Amino acid sequence: MNTAFSTWTATRAAGLARLDAFLPHAGRAYAARRNHAVDAPTVSGLSPYLRRRMVTEREVLARVLARHDETAAEKFIDEVFWRAHFKGRLEGQPEIWTRYRQSVAQGRAALDRDPALARRYADAVAGRTGIDAFDAWVAELEASGYLHNHARMWFASIWSHTLGLPWALGAAFMHARLLDGDPAANTLSWRWVVGLHTPGKTYLARADNIARYTEGRFQPHGLAADAPPLEEPPFALPWTSPALDLSPPQGPSLLLVTEEDLDPQTLLPSDAAVAAVHVADAVERDTDARSPLVQDFARQALDDAARRVAVAFPDTPVRRGPIDAETLAQAASAAGVRTIVTAYAPIGPTRDRLDALASQLAARGLTLKSLGRPYDALTWPQGRGGFFGLKKRIPRLLDQLALRPNAQPALL
Ligand SMILES: Cc1cc2nc3c(=O)[nH]c(=O)nc-3n(C[C@H](O)[C@H](O)[C@H](O)COP(=O)(O)OP(=O)(O)OC[C@H]3O[C@@H](n4cnc5c(N)ncnc54)[C@H](O)[C@@H]3O)c2cc1C
Repeated sequence: MNTAFSTWTATRAAGLARLDAFLPHAGRAYAARRNHAVDAPTVSGLSPYLRRRMVTEREVLARVLARHDETAAEKFIDEVFWRAHFKGRLEGQPEIWTRYRQSVAQGRAALDRDPALARRYADAVAGRTGIDAFDAWVAELEASGYLHNHARMWFASIWSHTLGLPWALGAAFMHARLLDGDPAANTLSWRWVVGLHTPGKTYLARADNIARYTEGRFQPHGLAADAPPLEEPPFALPWTSPALDLSPPQGPSLLLVTEEDLDPQTLLPSDAAVAAVHVADAVERDTDARSPLVQDFARQALDDAARRVAVAFPDTPVRRGPIDAETLAQAASAAGVRTIVTAYAPIGPTRDRLDALASQLAARGLTLKSLGRPYDALTWPQGRGGFFGLKKRIPRLLDQLALRPNAQPALL
């Protein structure tokens, strides 16, 4: 287990401290060592904070570029943009999410039908497969809520290609236990391993590669020798560039803070009239219940956001509570407003909840306004095709995000 990533504090201050500690390593050292899944941290450990925007991509990029030149930090910058690429891909092709959820249901049905498969599944999730590396990663995931990227790739490959288990059940298992569990990054990475993301191209974990990049910690035996790709029918609709509303509400509003975006201070312009703030309780995972570790992290992250909001919006009532129409209608009425504004929630359980809520609130004469962020509006349209399309545009995106000297920021 990577001892640096065995415990996590769910505050923005802890995320910023992690960023500070990582900064010296974000240049060439990261490029050289990032694939090594070893005890010394070779990667940032920022994902649980980035996932909830406790620390934003923009500020991570800004701090890294203040410390390293663009060439030295190229690899790290690329990885931060991989997140945006996956978010944009899923946002523009929602059927990927629908299909994933169908595949989870089909996987569960297969376990009910096939006792041998059900036994293999039970052994895998208990870390009892006899494959040393895999069993250790199950324990590490359960105990820490984190796995190194390379370990996630090997894990997904062994799950799907060696153990012959339904990929979507593995994705759901991992998602429910990762502190950074993310519908886009997780689902698309698993789809890539089984050949659905880049049709025909799979990822096969090899024992020598695992031994090399764990620096001898594991030398697994009995791994699959090949990884035939899965196939699926074409999507009903083509990928469509996501359209985000970037205009803040005109009049006073109730600000709803969800786990999807815990940086409410930078969501609205400083002169926006916020009459009250409602910080939501965590939203449960919809296919699998989230692990107690993830639930605690989410709850504490929301507590931290509520404390920060109280400082950022002095003299403004801040309440905690569930996201339901009744609670929000009461909060809006107490604040004397008809508009509830919230950060745009990308595809996933919170979005499902907000979509249902929008019509329930409309029936009460209230508007739920989802406000996008310029970073997403600039990067998500690059979610079509492969990562290379986005990579080519990174210098221009850094300009548009005003992250390069003498840059011409985008007018959005
Ligand atoms: C099977 C599988 C499942 C995954 N599930 C998730 C998930 O649920 N949530 C998640 O955030 N990432 C996921 N990833 C991507 C990646 O493994 C993690 O983002 C990364 O390991 C987080 O650790 P870090 O912050 O130390 O990364 P660093 O290497 O320090 O990277 C910095 C940041 O860049 C982003 N990033 C890095 N690599 C990737 C990547 N391959 N794809 C997308 N963004 C990336 C993350 O936001 C990360 O915090 C998955 C990868 C695989 C192979």
